[in-house]
Amino acid sequence: MKVLAILYKGGSAAKEEPRLLGTVENQLGIREWLESQGHEYVVSDSKEGPDSDFQKHIVDAEVLITTPFHPGYLTAELFEKAKKLKICITAGVGSDHIDLNSAVKNGVQVLEVSGSNVVSVAEHVVMSILLLVRNFVPAHEVIERGDWQVSDVARNAFDLEGKVVGTIGAGRIGYRVLQRLLPFDCKELIYYDYAPLPEAAAKTVNARRVEDLKDFVSQCDVVTVNCPLHEGTRGLVNADLLKHFKKGAWLVNTARGAICDKDAVAAAIKSGQINGYAGDVWNVQPAPKDHSWRTMKNPLGGGNGMVPHYSGTTLDAQARYARGTKSILENYLTSKAQEPQNVIVGVGKYETKAYGQR
Ligand code: NAD
Repeated sequence: MKVLAILYKGGSAAKEEPRLLGTVENQLGIREWLESQGHEYVVSDSKEGPDSDFQKHIVDAEVLITTPFHPGYLTAELFEKAKKLKICITAGVGSDHIDLNSAVKNGVQVLEVSGSNVVSVAEHVVMSILLLVRNFVPAHEVIERGDWQVSDVARNAFDLEGKVVGTIGAGRIGYRVLQRLLPFDCKELIYYDYAPLPEAAAKTVNARRVEDLKDFVSQCDVVTVNCPLHEGTRGLVNADLLKHFKKGAWLVNTARGAICDKDAVAAAIKSGQINGYAGDVWNVQPAPKDHSWRTMKNPLGGGNGMVPHYSGTTLDAQARYARGTKSILENYLTSKAQEPQNVIVGVGKYETKAYGQR
């Protein structure tokens, strides 16, 4: 059996730090185990174009392992060539880089390691909210420059206390964000999700559901995006929706870049319609050098909290998703039932309700 893994290159960091398991160098720690059972294990970061290792090996791979941090995009067209493919495993959470409708059509299962990095991301979201609201990045830049003009940064620094924070998506990550925000004494915590939280869970975090998206964003000082990318969320935060945001609100997106319209966000920051944008996910990954989100700034020269896609790939998270990937593979190889929460697409059908209402 051929197992193909598309992972990111870790370079010298991965040689020095073996806990960087999700890299080409450290191969999720499963090479010996797979080879000892006679399987072929191909690992590469080469994923774009017809000459890439991804496209070369997908034709006879039975198992595909990918990671959202360096997504191998398995399109409908590539599915046609992947004649032997039986199972796609996402080492992490978020399988939008796999054309899920084609997976259903072709009877290919898609599993992810649900929950493996949800705390890692929730912590990053809370950090990003704070760094935007408190105007942290420009303040740090003042120090690096050797300056000390307090008023230049204090003019756009606020407290999180007393603000309304809302999450689009209140699943594993969205809910953990709400839990972590409780002690900040926000004015209100609200959420927008077609799946309402169980009553007790909503009560625990004192969160109110708002059913209309425009109405929802118009009430928020901070919006955080925590839903998967699918047909119903691609471009959800676009120029039209941004007009309904409170002027000067902050937007944090660690879910998927393409949920927010790239140009609309850059324009809204530039005009001051929103005061800042932070996150680690991009519409294309790796993001091109000239991507507007790298350098966009609000009229006061701040409001950019963008980083590369790493919130869910802390060393703690890598240990969890490497272990989870192995366990999914083990189940597959021994024909054992998979953990239901890991199954996004079963044979011929969606098993999750999180990737859109069908
Ligand atoms: P989850 O399945 O537990 O929760 C997703 C929630 O989003 C569900 O409650 C679902 O009903 C809701 N949802 C779906 N479509 C929606 C819509 N149109 N409007 C409002 N809500 C909608 O998933 P999770 O573990 O919380 O992860 C969410 C997403 O976060 C993943 O799919 C992935 O894209 C992203 N993620 C990013 C990183 C990172 O490193 N940046 C890591 C992990 C996950």
